[in-house]
Amino acid sequence: ASPLKVCIVGSGNWGSAIARIIGDNARTLQHIATTVKMWVFEENINGRKLSDIINTEHENVKYLPGYKLPENVVAVPKLSDAAMGADLLVFVVPHQFIRKLCDEMVGCVSARARGITLIKGIYEGPEGLRLISDVIREKMEIDVSVLMGANIANEVAAEKFCESTIGDLSKNLSAVLVKRIHDFQSSVSCIESFTSFSKCVFLFCLLVKNIVAVSAGFCDGLQCGDNTKAAVIRLGLMEMITFAQLFSKNGVVSTSTFLESCGVADLIATCYGGRNRRAAEAFVRTGKSIEVLEKEIFNGQKLQGPATSAEVYRILQQKCLVNRFPLFTAVYQICFEKRPVQEMISCLQSHPCDM
Ligand code: NAD
Ligand code: 13P
Repeated sequence: ASPLKVCIVGSGNWGSAIARIIGDNARTLQHIATTVKMWVFEENINGRKLSDIINTEHENVKYLPGYKLPENVVAVPKLSDAAMGADLLVFVVPHQFIRKLCDEMVGCVSARARGITLIKGIYEGPEGLRLISDVIREKMEIDVSVLMGANIANEVAAEKFCESTIGDLSKNLSAVLVKRIHDFQSSVSCIESFTSFSKCVFLFCLLVKNIVAVSAGFCDGLQCGDNTKAAVIRLGLMEMITFAQLFSKNGVVSTSTFLESCGVADLIATCYGGRNRRAAEAFVRTGKSIEVLEKEIFNGQKLQGPATSAEVYRILQQKCLVNRFPLFTAVYQICFEKRPVQEMISCLQSHPCDM
C-alpha cells in the first residue's frame, strides 16, 4: 500500500503542537508519507506571510512561538490544495470555523479518506446540538474519529508526559498522532479503543468542559480558594455527566468514561492551566469583556468556553432544562448578560445534582 498522506486542517496553538508529533512520526514511520501538509489560515506578520515564515523558519511564530516544526511539515495557504489527495485529515481549528471550512473542502477529498477531529466545542444549529465530528462526517461524507485529552498545547510541544483518548481508529492511523513510548521522556499517549456507545458519551462530556474551565477561572478571579474551586469543578463535572445523559444518543452514561484522559483529566488540566480559565480570571480582575480579553491576551488564539456556554444555554432554554444546570447557566449569564460573578458561587449552594 502507498504511504498514508496526512493533512492537518489548522495551524493554531494545538494545531502546531500536534504538527510537531505528526511531522516526526511521518519522518520515521514507513507507512506515513514523509511530507505532511498543514493548512494555514493566511495572515500577515510584520509584512510577511505566515505560511512563508513557517516554510522558511519552520516555526509558527504567532501561534506556537519557541518550538520548531519538522521541516517535512509544509504550510499550505489554500485549503483545497492542502486537502487534495489526503488519506487522513486531522481537524484542529476553533470550532466556530469548521462548517465553513468543510464546505470549502467538499469535492477535494476522496470518500476513502478518514478524518480525526481534535476540536473541542459543540455545534448548535436548527436541528439542535450536534457533535463537531458529526458535522464533519455529514458534510464531507467521510469517517471521522476523535482525539481528546488533557493536552495543553504548549506542554505537549515541550514534550511533557501526557495522555489522550482516541475513539475508534485503527492502530495504523492512531500511530500518526501518538508519540511513541520509546521516544524517551517525551509525551506518551495512551490509547483506548472505544465502543461507539462510550465514544458518544466521551464526546458529549468533553465538548462542554470548557464551560467548567471558565467557572474555575471565575473562582480564581474571586480568590475563592481551593476548596471552593474544587467544589465548582465537582459540580461542573456533575453537570457534564447530566448533560451527557440527556443529550447522548442512548442516554446511558458509563462513569468509567469520565475517568479517562478525555474526562476528569482534561477537566483538571483546563481548570488549572487552560486559556479559558485564564481569560475568566482576567474577566473578574479587570472588568473587561471576554471579547476584549481574547484579543488582548491571546494574540489571535480563540476561546471555546464562552461561545460553548451560549450554544448550550440556548438549547437548555428551548428544552426547559435551565434549572438543572445552574453552573452552565451562570457562566453564560456572567459572560454575556452582566450577571454579577459572585452569584456563580451562591447559585451552586443548593445544586440539583446533590438533591
Ligand atoms: P487557536 O486558539 O490557536 O486558534 C487560532 C487559529 O484559528 C489560528 O490558526 C488562526 O489562523 C485560525 N483562524 C483565525 N480566523 C480564522 C478564520 N476566519 N477561519 C479559519 N481559521 C481562522 O487554535 P488551537 O489552539 O489550535 O485550537 C483548535 C481546537 O483545538 C479548539 O477546538 C481547541 O479547543 C482545541 N484544543 C486546544 C488546545 C490548546 O491547548 N490550545 C488543546 C486541546 C484542544
Ligand atoms: P484551553 O482552550 O482552555 O486552553 O484548553 C485547552 C485544552 O483543551 C487542553 O486539553
